[in-house]
Amino acid sequence: MDSSASKSDDFFPEKKESSSRGDLKDDIPVVGDKLKEDGMEIAMKLAQQALAVGEVPVGCVFVHEDKIIAIGRNTVNETRNATRHAEINCIDEVLKWCKNNNKDSSAVLANTEVFVTVEPCIMCAGALHNLHLKQVTYGCQNDRFGGCGTVLDAGLLAENPCKIIGGVRAEEAMQLLKDFYKGTNPNAPVPNVKKKSGRKSDTADS
Ligand SMILES: [Zn+2]
Repeated sequence: MDSSASKSDDFFPEKKESSSRGDLKDDIPVVGDKLKEDGMEIAMKLAQQALAVGEVPVGCVFVHEDKIIAIGRNTVNETRNATRHAEINCIDEVLKWCKNNNKDSSAVLANTEVFVTVEPCIMCAGALHNLHLKQVTYGCQNDRFGGCGTVLDAGLLAENPCKIIGGVRAEEAMQLLKDFYKGTNPNAPVPNVKKKSGRKSDTADS
């Protein structure tokens, strides 16, 4: 158990030594910090950080009783794992936080709010509903993969769907995605974007 735990630390190194990581801004709080600003503000900073390191800019934070219990951003390119969306990375962190703090994860999640800059994709929305979170607040719509109603409402498939609020700081969140796909960031990989498909945006990996 212990060796696998340390392995996953290596896999998501932005956890404990976050302040020493060059790609993390100093003003991004770490897990365990008290929430001092709006949750979406933190999620937005994480999305900016993702953009800076060439990931699709989506940021996410889980807040339990005014305490940050997970922060995350996409690590799909870094890990070469298409499921490593910001929300999934956060869920892993929450479970670890619960274990480290001897908390029952179901009880914690039922009283946890999620802030994510982009509408969760169908995979993530399904996961969030299944965890019975208190509330999920997202920024802009995800026109390609949105699982909160834009493409599919994953809540319709859930027994006890959580409350979802969308459209918070949507323009800012969308602008980060546009910047990513425009390739204005020199660190960004060659975008895997189809040319003008008639879609409004090429949102992905949220
Ligand atoms: Zn997702």
